[in-house]
Amino acid sequence: MNLDFNKEEFKRQVLENVKTLKRKTIETATKQQIYQAVAFALRDLITDRWIATHKTYEEKDAKIVYYLSMEFLMGRALGNNLINLMAKKEVEEALAELGINYNDIEEEEPDPGLGNGGLGRLAACFLDSLATLEYPAYGCGIRYRHGIFEQKIVDGYQVEQPDNWLENGNPWEIRRSEYACEVKFGGNVRVEKKENGEDRFIQENCHTIIAVPYDIPILGYNNYTVNTLRLWDARAIIKFDFNKFDQGEYQKAVEQQYLAETIVEVLYPNDNHIQGKELRLKQQYFFVSASVQTAVKKFKSKHNDLKDLPKKIAIQMNDTHPSMAVAELMRILIDEEDLSWDEAWNITTQVCAYTNHTIMSEALEKWPVELFSRLLPRIYQIIEEINRRFCLELLIRYKDDHERIRRMAIISDGQVKMAWLAIVGSHSVNGVAALHTEILKNQELKDFYELYPHKFNNKTNGITQRRWLAKANPKLAALITDTIGDGWFTDLTELNKLVPYKENEAFRKKFMEIKYENKIKLAEYIKKHNNIEIDPNSIYDIQIKRLHEYKRQLLNVLHILYLYNQLKAHPDMDFYPRTFIFGAKAAPGYRRAKLIIKLINTVADIINKDEHINGKIKVVFVENYNVSIAEKLFPAADISEQISTASKEASGTGNMKFMLNGAVTIGTLDGANIEIKEEVGDENIFIFGLTADQVIEYYKNRNYNPWDIYNTNQDLRLVLTQLINGFLSPENPELFREIYDSLLNGGDEYFVLKDFDSYAQTHRRIVEAYKNREEWTKMQIMNVAKSGKFSSDRTIKEYAEEIWNLEPIHVSVD
Ligand SMILES: *Cc1c(COP(=O)(O)O)cnc(C)c1O
Repeated sequence: MNLDFNKEEFKRQVLENVKTLKRKTIETATKQQIYQAVAFALRDLITDRWIATHKTYEEKDAKIVYYLSMEFLMGRALGNNLINLMAKKEVEEALAELGINYNDIEEEEPDPGLGNGGLGRLAACFLDSLATLEYPAYGCGIRYRHGIFEQKIVDGYQVEQPDNWLENGNPWEIRRSEYACEVKFGGNVRVEKKENGEDRFIQENCHTIIAVPYDIPILGYNNYTVNTLRLWDARAIIKFDFNKFDQGEYQKAVEQQYLAETIVEVLYPNDNHIQGKELRLKQQYFFVSASVQTAVKKFKSKHNDLKDLPKKIAIQMNDTHPSMAVAELMRILIDEEDLSWDEAWNITTQVCAYTNHTIMSEALEKWPVELFSRLLPRIYQIIEEINRRFCLELLIRYKDDHERIRRMAIISDGQVKMAWLAIVGSHSVNGVAALHTEILKNQELKDFYELYPHKFNNKTNGITQRRWLAKANPKLAALITDTIGDGWFTDLTELNKLVPYKENEAFRKKFMEIKYENKIKLAEYIKKHNNIEIDPNSIYDIQIKRLHEYKRQLLNVLHILYLYNQLKAHPDMDFYPRTFIFGAKAAPGYRRAKLIIKLINTVADIINKDEHINGKIKVVFVENYNVSIAEKLFPAADISEQISTASKEASGTGNMKFMLNGAVTIGTLDGANIEIKEEVGDENIFIFGLTADQVIEYYKNRNYNPWDIYNTNQDLRLVLTQLINGFLSPENPELFREIYDSLLNGGDEYFVLKDFDSYAQTHRRIVEAYKNREEWTKMQIMNVAKSGKFSSDRTIKEYAEEIWNLEPIHVSVD
């Protein structure tokens, strides 16, 4: 399908770009300059398809989904675009003929880290699937000047450095100043009477900021669809009064510019946690307003009757961060389009849909009324009215159940509850894995489920196989394609056809060899970046995800310390060599998470240096975990650590990436782990620990006492004691006291000690299983073969059919 790829023309274009953009020859250009020349050459190739796509959407008057997300964790574009264009081989050849090594060039692209973790990566996988399935879609977000910080490890501690991903420009984006729009903050609301006696609301004395879109092409796989990721930049309106043009005016104008641009300066680096900062609220309204305005404007350019809006646009809110879309659409329909409240509300609730990503209270967005009403007076007024009408409904239905009405009010205790706004203003509320949705319905959102049972539905998360298998693990991808054909690229359930091959010795051998080669490659990376030698014949046991107490990296590291103690006490014991690998960023303000990073690195140092254990345990902390590094880690994993406290991880998607790359999971019955177990079968996964029901019961009854475990498990007691007796940090024995206290005196909120024994036992079972190399390989093959459900193609099809009512639109180029 790479019909329009002409190798000679491409080479000519790269040389031309090096000359015209960089004033260099291919011999004198830097690798970065060559990368840019290549990226621009590809963007040129894509542009005709991009134009054709939007022309087709216009002609067919297609319904469009706007996927609103504060985060898009895209990862690098070059390699992914080449896969979706099916032009990787040709481009590699073309570059080789110019004397350029493709792999060197690929590493030159900065990794656009405009997200924290799973939520932002989900949005990126969804865009890939939307384009591949030919659904008309825009991703809408913020063009942060600085994405997630770059993590350095210095003396075992995380040190954050600003990410400067735009330093050399971004060849994939196009600035589209002609689509700029105004976003209003502050000021006051004036009420006027219209001719018909109704009120007209006018925003006055506002501070107006210009939103300027930058568009990035999103290619479908093996088709001509090119959708758009639209990221908004902020600019001040600068009105020069040339009569008063003096030093002061000029200074003021430049200051304004600077203040406006701070809105998009930086991504908030918190995962599953809110900080409640004014600037964050500004970011939210800024991109929501610009996106919703654009959607309505686009609709109006073709249609007259706004009642048809739900036939032509759907808005999906990725968590509550964009939930002001509900109020912003109401504002546009009422204030600018003159619709009545009831008409506007009817349209808004048909257009909007909300995805819930967490049940943890510290992640639920609540904004102080004082801040909200000062920053967004008209939006606040609309939310007040939504709340007033909603509470009236509740009063009729629940009569004197005042407690329930108080719980459900969108505004209460001086706060605006964004999740409640999103639920009331949407026709669909979905969780992201079966268990998560059940917990929403039966616990966290029970009141709302009872009121609106029809709104609730589940959409189990997924990942794109184009990035997470084809791009990340080319050798395994090639083996699979050689064995069952390439249908899996667009239908991941095709992997089922691998099941019988687990009994085929030749296939198993090739499968094992590929895993081994991937492990060698990772060993080289770790040697280069960590200066640690790891043994590719050891078990690679990997936990990579944001550092969070609920994800329980602490359980993992305490278990490693326990294993080390065992090995020290019994040097001749039968011990299969193990390599434990971590990758994790902690939010810069999350002190305990950062201390856990220091703990992992401290334990790593002690164990890696200890010559008496003959290298049987190695511990590695990979710096700066991001999408590009993830692509190196998943293919090399033997064991996938998915050990969150049951009920806490809404879905997880890292678990799916591991499975797709043939790692076997050790995990709790949490999030999508449960569905992975259902797919792969109990015999191909290692489950341990409390269930979600048990965890929830303990919280209710408050009858878990971690000291009971301390008193009965002496191996674990030794590990805990080592946290505070100077064993780990002789120069400062108190260093890890906080962690010790959180476990024993703080109630062990995440059941680390409670689940420890079950975890250790399950690790023993895993190592026994691993020793049988043939049987283990069969398990790995089964994990790959049964991962079909977890394609984001399946997830997106469900969203399109069950929430958005969206039809695919085929694009052709003549
Ligand atoms: C997939 C992914 C995540 C999410 O991982 P979980 O284990 O589901 O928390 C986070 N960060 C990156 C870079 C990812 O690729």
